[in-house]
Amino acid sequence: ETVFLSGATGYIAQHILGQLLETKKYKIVGSVRSQEKADALKTNFQNNEDLSFVFVDDIAKEDAFDAAFQKHGAEFDYILHTASPFTFEIKDNKKDLIIPAINGTKSIVQATVKYAPNVKKFVVTSSYAAVASPSADYIKSNTLNEETWNDQPLEEAVKDPIASYYYSKTAAERAVWDLHKSLNAKFKVTSINPVFVFGPQQFDSSVTKKLNTSCEFINGIVHSQLDDPVSNDIKGAFVDVRDVAKAQVAAIADDKLAGHRLILSAGRFSLQSLADIINKKYPQLKGKIARGVPGSDKEAIDSLATLDNHVTKELLGFEFIGLTESVMDTVNQILKVDASQ
Ligand code: NDP
Repeated sequence: ETVFLSGATGYIAQHILGQLLETKKYKIVGSVRSQEKADALKTNFQNNEDLSFVFVDDIAKEDAFDAAFQKHGAEFDYILHTASPFTFEIKDNKKDLIIPAINGTKSIVQATVKYAPNVKKFVVTSSYAAVASPSADYIKSNTLNEETWNDQPLEEAVKDPIASYYYSKTAAERAVWDLHKSLNAKFKVTSINPVFVFGPQQFDSSVTKKLNTSCEFINGIVHSQLDDPVSNDIKGAFVDVRDVAKAQVAAIADDKLAGHRLILSAGRFSLQSLADIINKKYPQLKGKIARGVPGSDKEAIDSLATLDNHVTKELLGFEFIGLTESVMDTVNQILKVDASQ
């Protein structure tokens, strides 16, 4: 069976590739934006014959996936859609975040319906951002679960890059469910809604000076100065990237996950929680990196909404990796690469 994976170069996507290849059950066609990136991935995966690539250069285009699907769609049994901008280094919130997320998602659903008649399941990587707006997660009396939606309107969200990213993920996930219905699609849909994703890069070669947006929280502390502040305003929930990939593979294989939104969260954290773990576990860094106010994360975390993802946990049936392990595996890899340079 063949899986199409959009955004194959991404942090999460590379773990999905790794886990899918490990099963030896699937052929994977990944979409990439350049030959250079495809070549690097191919080399990292040791020219595995089950892995091939197609070009989808800019998902902001309305027919972004048409050409690739016209050519290869008939081969696909499953679609994993992960490509979406997750960066705040942007000029225009609407053009750089919202439009590519929505257009890319609409295009891949439409191309699946039109050109990929054998697809049984469509798995979209949405986000906890589609469950709760930034402010909704900060209201202690709120309870957020698999049925909750971020309801912040575009006019408000577009003023701020973070809220725009949240809006982009919400509108994109809505497009999947809406188009699935209106186009009378035969395949089943599962939405994967991770909170902040931590954990090592699939390959050491991806450990660059700046990491992907979520892992940069950890990288930033590892490379901080003693006097740098540690903000308790950066807070939320975390899940390990290996568990995100595991849930994606499960969404393909396990029929009971069809039709669900899965909130992947292993627990709460604030930036201070990360600083505390790193200071405690790495004596060689202690005294050199930001310290903040140790233990002050408890209060920050306590101010957040109740995140109730027990339905997801029951459906998936595996334990999520905890914060200390996830952070340490991330830091170990950063330090290893730093030492080799
Ligand atoms: P990355 O930035 O590592 O991956 C993003 C992927 O999307 C890359 O393959 C990137 O291609 C591709 N992409 C971005 N913009 C475009 C575009 N305009 N045209 C074509 N391709 C594009 O991020 P993550 O792996 O962290 O994120 C993957 C998915 O998971 C996203 O949908 C994100 O919203 C979601 N997510 C991530 C969370 C996290 O904490 N990391 C939490 C919740 C959801 P290229 O490599 O060429 O830039």
